[in-house]
Amino acid sequence: MKRIAVFPGSFDPFTIGHESIVRRSLGLFDEVIVAVGINSTKANLFSLEQRLNWIRDVFQDVPEVKVDSYEGLTVEYCKRQHARYILRGLRTSADFGFERGIAQVNKAMEPEVETVFILALPEHSAISSTIIRDIIRNGGNAQPFVPKEIRFEK
Ligand code: ADP
Repeated sequence: MKRIAVFPGSFDPFTIGHESIVRRSLGLFDEVIVAVGINSTKANLFSLEQRLNWIRDVFQDVPEVKVDSYEGLTVEYCKRQHARYILRGLRTSADFGFERGIAQVNKAMEPEVETVFILALPEHSAISSTIIRDIIRNGGNAQPFVPKEIRFEK
């Protein structure tokens, strides 16, 4: 059976930390679906279309990576995709506290789906989409924190 993982997130925008988690997970899974969650209560800086296009550009040469968007529960999306794994990245103990709650509730809802965590590289531990959005809003250069395929307009 094909090992399919879903990497869910807002990816507003996708960072080198996210990219690293996906690339490092490719030894564990046959296919990784980077899935942009549509959350109507979150105000995003970048449009869904823009986020999807950027992530597709980053992985255009990697056939094992698919890029998609979804609405509703992540475990329901996993079932539709026949994915038995949810992939998440961990930077800090704060991430752990947050992620543990989500993973345990997901496990209770859908026991067949396992959440797999990969630790961020030390050099990526301080990078977050929130910080990047702040840099951009304040006119700074966020380019070093995102994959080279992502170009912010000046
Ligand atoms: P969400 O809105 O679901 O938190 P994010 O786009 O912020 O989505 O993050 C998606 C996943 O990537 C989460 O598991 C998050 O912990 C992880 N992540 C975010 N930034 C990094 C990073 N710099 N290094 C490793 N993992 C990260």
